[in-house]
Amino acid sequence: MGGHSIPRCAECGARLDAGRICRDYFHDLLALEAQVVGAAGELPHFFAVAAYNLQHPSEFVPAALLGLRRTLGDVLAGRATIADARRRARAAADGSTRVRRRVDAPMSAEERPLLQRWPRVWELTVRDVCEVAPLVPTQRSDKPLERLCTAIADRLLRDFDALAVSVKAAKPEPPIPLPVDDVSVEVWRELGEPEDD
Ligand SMILES: [Zn+2]
Repeated sequence: MGGHSIPRCAECGARLDAGRICRDYFHDLLALEAQVVGAAGELPHFFAVAAYNLQHPSEFVPAALLGLRRTLGDVLAGRATIADARRRARAAADGSTRVRRRVDAPMSAEERPLLQRWPRVWELTVRDVCEVAPLVPTQRSDKPLERLCTAIADRLLRDFDALAVSVKAAKPEPPIPLPVDDVSVEVWRELGEPEDD
């Protein structure tokens, strides 16, 4: 490690500004979420909390961690609804088993191998989401999904030296009275394209 190493979260690897921990960015994210109509308590909130928790596994007992991973997979694949996810979380918290680990508790024989295998490098962390989210309202298009894709595509072009990027976002359970499975948007951006075309 040289003198220029950037402080990073020991669990998810996110870059940390001086004096901040990952949970601070999580609170920033919840504050951003509160500005989005319909996000609180719904799928966006579930995805934000589930992703943050899965990227910070040491706070949970193994059963809770594996249960959350299964539920997130089920919701993403359409096998469970947000109501199912809530029911499962309540059932896990109501039982006699603990959900959260005590920070000072020594790791059990069951926890150690699970946490050792758990991913430590992620494509996106809560920090990345906090940086991209405020860009979204400044984009010109009035379609939220298109704005989101464009903001992410521009960020990827900038950060990864790419020549072109395609970003696709799908919105499960769209709030429109039509029998569709999902609504999706795909945005293609190339290097050098003006940002406000
Ligand atoms: Zn972190």
